Amino acid sequence: MTLEEAREKLKKQQELEGAYAHALGVLSFDGSTIAPKDSYIPRGKTMGILSGEFYKLYTSEENTAVCDFLEEHQDSLTPEERRIVEIRQKDIKERRAIPADEFVAYNELINASGAVWHEAKEKSDYAMFEPYLEKIIAALRRQASLIAPDKDPYDYMLDRFEPGLTQERCDGFFSGLKEKLVPLIEKVSHAEQPDVSFVTGDFPVSQQQELSKYLMKVIGLDPRRSCLTTTEHPFTTDFTKYDVRITTKYLPDNFLSSMFSVIHESGHAMYELHTADAYVGTELGGGVSMAVHESQSRLYENLIGRSRAFIEYIYPELARLFPSLRSHGAEELYRAANRMTPSLIRTEADELTYSMHVMVRYEIERAMLHGEVNAHELPELWNSLYKSYLGVDVPDARRGILQDSHWSNGQIGYFPSYALGSAYGAQLMEKMRETVPVDAAIASGDLTPISAWLEEHIWKYGSLYKPGELMESAMGAPFDVKYYTDYLAAKVKDVYGV
Ligand code: ZN
Repeated sequence: MTLEEAREKLKKQQELEGAYAHALGVLSFDGSTIAPKDSYIPRGKTMGILSGEFYKLYTSEENTAVCDFLEEHQDSLTPEERRIVEIRQKDIKERRAIPADEFVAYNELINASGAVWHEAKEKSDYAMFEPYLEKIIAALRRQASLIAPDKDPYDYMLDRFEPGLTQERCDGFFSGLKEKLVPLIEKVSHAEQPDVSFVTGDFPVSQQQELSKYLMKVIGLDPRRSCLTTTEHPFTTDFTKYDVRITTKYLPDNFLSSMFSVIHESGHAMYELHTADAYVGTELGGGVSMAVHESQSRLYENLIGRSRAFIEYIYPELARLFPSLRSHGAEELYRAANRMTPSLIRTEADELTYSMHVMVRYEIERAMLHGEVNAHELPELWNSLYKSYLGVDVPDARRGILQDSHWSNGQIGYFPSYALGSAYGAQLMEKMRETVPVDAAIASGDLTPISAWLEEHIWKYGSLYKPGELMESAMGAPFDVKYYTDYLAAKVKDVYGV
C-alpha cells in the first residue's frame, strides 16, 4: 500500500461510515420526535441491523490495516491526518473490545429503553424503567471492563464524554465549587426574592413558537442548515454542519422554560454550524467533547441569555408576543429570569444552584458504576441527595429520577460536563472581554462580534485539538474555577444586592 492508496481507502471508508451514521442518526431523531410510540420495535430492528453492519465495517481487517499503515507513516501526515488517525485508532480499539453481538444488543437496548423512559416519565412510574436502567448499568460496567480493564469504570465513562476528565479532577472541581456556592446559596435564601408571579400564566404555544424563531435569528443560526422541533427533553443533533437540528419543549404556562432551552440548544448548534468546511465527513467535523460543547450552550443560555443587556434587547418582542408582560418592565423580567432558589428540575435551575443538581448525579453515577447501588435503590438515593444538596423534597419520580433522558440513552458520565462547561464558559467570556465589547454587542442585538470570536478561537477547529488543549489556548491560561465563582458572586450581588 502506498500513502496515496491508504489516503484514498480512508476517504472511502469515512464516506461509507458517514452514510451509516447519517441513517442511524435520522432514525434516532425520528424516534425522539414524530415517530408514533409503537414504532420503536421495527425501528429497533432496523437500527440493530444497521449498527451491526457499521460495526463490521469499522472493525474490519481492512480498516484496521489502513489505520495501522497511516500510523506507521505519521511523519508524512498533516497534523489533521495525524489527529484523525489518533481518534480512529482509539475508536477501533474500543469497538473491537466489545463482541459484535453485544454491540448490537446494546443498541437495541438503548432504543427500547428510550421509548420506555418516555412512558415511565409520563406516568411517573419508575418501576417501569427500572429493569432497563439495571441492564444499561450492567452493560456499561461490562463495556468498561472490556475496553479499559485497568481503569476505574467511572473514570472510563467520564473520559468517553470529556477526554481527560477523571474523578480526581471532578472531585477537585466540585469541592472548589461547593465551597463558594454553599455560602452564596445561604446568603440568597435570606434575601428578598424577585417577583416571579407574572412569568407563569397563559403563554400560548403558537406565540412561543414565534419567540423561538426570533431567538434563533438573533443568535444567528442559519435557517438553511438548521431547524427546530419539539421533544420531551430538549437536545441538539447534527449529521454534518449542513444539517443541525435542535429541539425544545413548550410549557403553555411558562415561556421562560422553552426560551432558555432554545437559547441553550442554539449555542450547541452554533458550534456545529461553524466547524471548518474542510473537516466535513471526517472525525474532525464536529464539536470535540461534551464539556466544550456545554461551555458554548451554557455561555449562550446564561452569560448572554440571562444578562440584563439581552433581556432588555428582547423585551419589546416579548411584550409584543405576550401582552401580560407589558405591565412589567425589562428590569423586572431580568430579575425574575434570574431568581435563584433551590428547585427540583436541573434544566430549569438557576445559575447558582445548577451545579448542585450535577453533583447529585455525579455521586449517583459513581455509585452505579462502582456497583455500590442497584437500580431498585436509586430513587431513594436520589431523593436523599436532593434533600442534602438542595434541601428540597422530591414529590414523585417524574420530577425526580426520571426527569433527564441521559441514563436511558446510556449517557452515564455526561452530567459533570454541564458544570465543567459552565465554568469554562465563564473563563472564556472573561478572555473574550479583553478584545470584544460584549455588552455593547448584546445591547445592539448584533451578536456577530461574540460568535466571530468563538468561531475564531474554538468552533472552527472542530475536533482537531484535545479538549484541554483547545480550552487552554482559547482562554490563554490554565483553567481556573475562580472565574466561574467570581462571576456567580457578582451576579448574586447584581440581582439580590447581597
Ligand atoms: Zn446542552
